Amino acid sequence: MTIMTVGGCLVCGGQSLEPLLSIPDVPTLTNCLCASEAEAADAPRGNINLVYCLDCGHIVNAAFNQARVTYDGRFENTLAFSPRYRQYAEATAARIINRYGLHGKCIVEIGCGGGDFLRLLCDAGNCGKGYDPSQPPSRTAAGLGRVEIIGRSFAAKDACGADFVCCRHVLEHLPAPTDLLRQLRESIDVRTGAIVFFEVPNGLFTLERLGIWDIIHEHVSYFTPSSLARAFHAAGFTVCRAAFDFDDQYLWVEARADGLILSSELPERPPNALYTSFAARFADRVDHWRERIAEWRSERRRIVVWGAGAKGVMFLNLLQVTTGAGIDCVVDINPRKQGHFVPLMRQRIVGPDWLLHNPPDLVIVMNPEYESEVRCMLDDIGIGCELISA
Ligand SMILES: [Zn+2]
Repeated sequence: MTIMTVGGCLVCGGQSLEPLLSIPDVPTLTNCLCASEAEAADAPRGNINLVYCLDCGHIVNAAFNQARVTYDGRFENTLAFSPRYRQYAEATAARIINRYGLHGKCIVEIGCGGGDFLRLLCDAGNCGKGYDPSQPPSRTAAGLGRVEIIGRSFAAKDACGADFVCCRHVLEHLPAPTDLLRQLRESIDVRTGAIVFFEVPNGLFTLERLGIWDIIHEHVSYFTPSSLARAFHAAGFTVCRAAFDFDDQYLWVEARADGLILSSELPERPPNALYTSFAARFADRVDHWRERIAEWRSERRRIVVWGAGAKGVMFLNLLQVTTGAGIDCVVDINPRKQGHFVPLMRQRIVGPDWLLHNPPDLVIVMNPEYESEVRCMLDDIGIGCELISA
């Protein structure tokens, strides 16, 4: 059953939508903490039904069910405990500050989470306001400098007077992403020369390099360079720069609201063969991993997954590995996740120290970008097991 009414492409309005991939019965919110095994078994389920636009290449989950997705206090997805991720966030903030001379400016972040990135931007003497419905009503936490975090969704008026607006890994969660961009464009005073910075998962990485483990129900959209540029163009922004980052897993744009738009410079949509071959390549990859897990189980090897974010949760769900079926624990360095359980598959989330008393034979790292830091952490606790990236 299609839950969301997709009247056309969410970016360009194109009517030619083709099926890409269907995955039934997945958790509706992969980063929602489950307090018990029973709660994890009962976690809300939904479907993924990806379709793509023949005009701009945008991908949409036509089965997205907004009623089963709530970003409340149980939503936990910070990556700030990872040294590799922190290094990326710090380098991104420094690049933005230097490029746009952000000192003593007014910064707004849409979907700021706990404010880790906003704080990096404000360390340069900026004043920041962050909006996120998963946070408590309002706080100016000690040690956060001039950062205020407001626990509600961003409203267009919140960007009035801002010199810089950033929004990372939010746009792909919205049922109407272009509405946010249009409202933002209207609320920005062009005379200030304000810059907006948006970062999303790179849909081209999903298609080309089979980054399949973070195909999740709550991602309504998968932006490619062509569809992201068109979304900004349609809202009246000029994209100044766009690039892939974090081993091409992320796609970001920096844009101005100055109306100097050159539609001829919009990137072309990815080749059709990437879409038409995707379902078969996806199935091959899932089968390959299912066979590997079965083989390791037959050898009685103790397997642990490292990373209880979207990728770890979907890896276990796509392979249908429940607890007791070969993988019983998932390691995560985020202490707020530890002691909780993986939705539907029910694995307990533990800290790295747990491995001291339960040494594994094999660790599956869910993101290759974290492989070297995971190896260092395992070395630190004296575990020299095999390590494989999924
Ligand atoms: Zn389109």
